Amino acid sequence: WSEAALNFLGLSANKGTESLLASSREPIAPPKTKSKPRLDMASGFTPEEEISMKLSRINGAINKMTKEEIQEKLANIGLNTCGVKDVLKKRLKNYYKRQRTAQSNRALTEDDVLKFDYLVVIDYEATCSETNDNFVHEIIEFPAVLVDAQGNVLGDDFQRFCRPKLNPKLTPFCTDLTGITQSQVDNAQYFPEVLVEFENWMAKHKLGTQYKFAILTDGPWDMARFLKTQTEISDIPFPQWARQWINLRKAYTAFYGCGKVNLQHMLQDLGMTFQGRPHCGLDDARNIAAIAARLLKDGCIMRVNEFHRDVRPSAVNSRGGGRAEEGGGSSSSSSRMSSSKSRLTQKRPQTKEGQPTGSRSYHGESPDIPQEGENLEDLLQYLKLQRS
Ligand code: AMP
Ligand code: MG
Repeated sequence: WSEAALNFLGLSANKGTESLLASSREPIAPPKTKSKPRLDMASGFTPEEEISMKLSRINGAINKMTKEEIQEKLANIGLNTCGVKDVLKKRLKNYYKRQRTAQSNRALTEDDVLKFDYLVVIDYEATCSETNDNFVHEIIEFPAVLVDAQGNVLGDDFQRFCRPKLNPKLTPFCTDLTGITQSQVDNAQYFPEVLVEFENWMAKHKLGTQYKFAILTDGPWDMARFLKTQTEISDIPFPQWARQWINLRKAYTAFYGCGKVNLQHMLQDLGMTFQGRPHCGLDDARNIAAIAARLLKDGCIMRVNEFHRDVRPSAVNSRGGGRAEEGGGSSSSSSRMSSSKSRLTQKRPQTKEGQPTGSRSYHGESPDIPQEGENLEDLLQYLKLQRS
């Protein structure tokens, strides 16, 4: 390794930052040769250990680089140069990490590969009022955007409006917020028919049959709240494909190593701006897809990181469920999360007498109350909401 490897990475044995900047050509990984790890007699380390040590040194050098130096290096390699310093650092470090994987003889592990061919990005819009007090949210826009595993956003989006059943008349606040008009929902189909159309769209793209896919949303609410409530209102089984998904915020914070984020933070940190109209479901989904695409291009190995626990079993496996990504993440009990999307209060459907409706869907503990062992932040947020 020593000299050749460092040259390959744009470093020399004695230099750090300057030589990183000096390399302007895309390095070409040498052909793989199958050989058993053996000790380098001179150093006493296996080739794998040597690579790890070199990578640590490279990471150390990157940590010392200025933002401009990192950008210059990224530009030389032909990588995207937008974003805040932490994002750029991660992009460059990950580039070298991938080079190492390509170089080493070790077989790829589970951690190195994506378990899906496509992401299906969904962002529901729902009926609402200004305060959302005792408001039961019904889905009124169902958009979906496809992203392939290489981080390309595909063009064939899905978008349907849905006709609300409980509150057929939209509040002026809801129309202002989402841009969805009364006539758009009046002329739309009810949710169950739209769901069938969505599943047909998935079938057209061979999702769940030929290709593996994972659902991706901005936060836990779309599947854990809006879809769950909607399936109860429509009295239909909760779709199999929606039982697990990727929460983009979690994937983003884990990958770039930052604190809590929302859509605006993520865009800002990546040097992107929101395209379109905020709270238009399709535009939201396209912007979320653009962020997810950026993560994939930066080398994030995304995993399902949210699961549903408390949903009615579906009678028949919906088309998408069969080959969707399975496992690989930790449950966050999203269905019980108390965090609100924007100012949602997420009340249960009530009858006139104030009893929860659809009681068979609500047996057991309240889905709003975080349970023992769950995220402490969720619990604190829940207590805060209870107090206010
Ligand atoms: P979003 O994906 O952020 O557009 O939000 C999804 C849904 O949450 C909206 O369609 C509304 O039903 C609800 N919502 C979002 N923001 C607000 C808000 N500020 N006030 C009331 N409801 C909201
Ligand atoms: Mg939205």
